[in-house]
Amino acid sequence: TPTHRGVVIPDDWPGYSPDLFTYPEHYSGALDCVYIPHGVIMDRTERLARDIMDDLGDHDIVVLCVLKGGHQFCSDLVEHIQVLNRSSSKSLLMTVDFIRLKSYLNDRSTPDIQMIGAESLSVLTGKNVLIIEAIVDTGKTLQKLLTHVQAFKPKLIKVAGLLVKRVPNQAVCLPDYVGFEIPNHFVVGYALDYNEFFRDLNHICVMSEDGKQKYRL
Ligand code: 5GP
Repeated sequence: TPTHRGVVIPDDWPGYSPDLFTYPEHYSGALDCVYIPHGVIMDRTERLARDIMDDLGDHDIVVLCVLKGGHQFCSDLVEHIQVLNRSSSKSLLMTVDFIRLKSYLNDRSTPDIQMIGAESLSVLTGKNVLIIEAIVDTGKTLQKLLTHVQAFKPKLIKVAGLLVKRVPNQAVCLPDYVGFEIPNHFVVGYALDYNEFFRDLNHICVMSEDGKQKYRL
């Protein structure tokens, strides 16, 4: 079975009832289901760390974390790589940088992608860069970021994406390391937001209609 798509979640996956897990009281009624529980995210991330280590071990890398949605995945992935670094004869020297991208309003993609902190990317020149993104939907955001990063002439670019959506016009460029392939639903939690809300939720969830209404702009 191919592993490049990551854990494939089928279209008919109903998720779990939120009542089976814990989550902040302020989101009660706002969640339709727990789509990917936090523990499963962590287990998959542990394996991605090993795959990255196998491919890039003994190189130096610059991790480029895509904010805001990518911060939790980035910190957990980096933490898992650090654990491997401590217990293996191979080790991956890492530095971490950040860039902020914004393109969504409510649960819809908007055509203009704002990029903040892109001036400082000269640190990437000649380096092995690992871009860490939470989610790839149409792939437009990643495409734009890749074009931008390439202009600084890094030696190598790899991309780790926690989630890739199965959408009709599948992304032109997909991450090298994929956590999960998911159906075309809008998801929140684990630092992914809906108008800045739901980042403080550890599971990846689907919102209820009430939740969408309550936090709509
Ligand atoms: P793309 O350019 O690939 O269509 O969209 C990627 C960006 O849109 C992501 O970096 C993320 O910010 C946002 N996005 C896409 N799908 C979702 C989703 O299901 N949930 C959330 N919270 N953000 C999403």
